[in-house]
Amino acid sequence: MKPAPFEYLRAASVDEAVAALASCGADGREGKVLAGGQSLVPLLALRMARPDLLVDINRVADLAEVSLVDGVLHVGALTRHSALAGQTGHLLLAEAARWIGHPAIRSRGTAAGSLAHADPSAELPVVAVACDAVVSVVGPAGVRSVAAADLFTGPLMSTLAEDELITSVSFPVPVRWGFAEFARRHGDFALVTAVVADGAIALGGVSAVPMRSAAGEDVLAGGGSVEEVVVAVCAELEPTGDLHASAPYRRALAAELVGRALRQAGVS
Ligand SMILES: Cc1cc2nc3c(=O)[nH]c(=O)nc-3n(C[C@H](O)[C@H](O)[C@H](O)COP(=O)(O)OP(=O)(O)OC[C@H]3O[C@@H](n4cnc5c(N)ncnc54)[C@H](O)[C@@H]3O)c2cc1C
Repeated sequence: MKPAPFEYLRAASVDEAVAALASCGADGREGKVLAGGQSLVPLLALRMARPDLLVDINRVADLAEVSLVDGVLHVGALTRHSALAGQTGHLLLAEAARWIGHPAIRSRGTAAGSLAHADPSAELPVVAVACDAVVSVVGPAGVRSVAAADLFTGPLMSTLAEDELITSVSFPVPVRWGFAEFARRHGDFALVTAVVADGAIALGGVSAVPMRSAAGEDVLAGGGSVEEVVVAVCAELEPTGDLHASAPYRRALAAELVGRALRQAGVS
């Protein structure tokens, strides 16, 4: 299929992009940000998304900058997954980015696009929640910061307004970390992802949004063994089954992957 007709604007600045999105909303039309296009363009082609206006942010200056300041990696919205995979300031983020799709997808897809798209199987949202990342958002009312845990509300749903643009994401760098995921084929979306970042344990693929395991983190903070932490995490899980994996299979995967991530983080 071909996309439904849309207008196209190549924004030169964040202000121009936000103004275009806001004017769309005011007219009762739908505007959408176009970043790497790796999720949006397939949705357009399938006519599952039919925006009136695409606001292309790829030429907005300074949106692809990455900087490490006081133990926090600040990642510009347009930072490609391949750039994240290649940086050395946040090794957990680099490892997670290497698991995203294939080289062609990693060379176009962006960090902010992944968070805005809010796929519960995607790697970067789980890392963001594990690291207590903070998302910088610009809208007509100005700039606001959103904790990653408050960004996601459901599969492909977030608290972003239609006229808001993510400009950067700040990821605190953990000292101890572990990352483990399982996908049916190399490059597929993960069935389950487990991330350990210092005392935090986060999972993807077991709920509608990336989840933190409060019970697992309590046991970890109390000096629990890998096995004890895994038991606590699994007691908290309520995965649902779908076409790709049954609920018991996702639970078994979570147990295995949390164990691997904990061991990688140095827990015994
Ligand atoms: C074959 C294939 C395999 C893939 N495998 C994986 C995988 O294993 N793991 C994974 O995580 N992802 C995977 N992806 C998705 C990929 O990571 C996308 O890059 C990502 O989900 C979206 O980023 P994007 O820059 O391409 O965003 P786009 O497709 O341009 O946009 C996606 C959505 O986010 C919005 N958006 C984008 N940028 C912003 C912004 N700055 N502010 C506000 N809203 C914004 C858009 O309006 C749109 O709604 C895969 C994609 C394909 C095609």
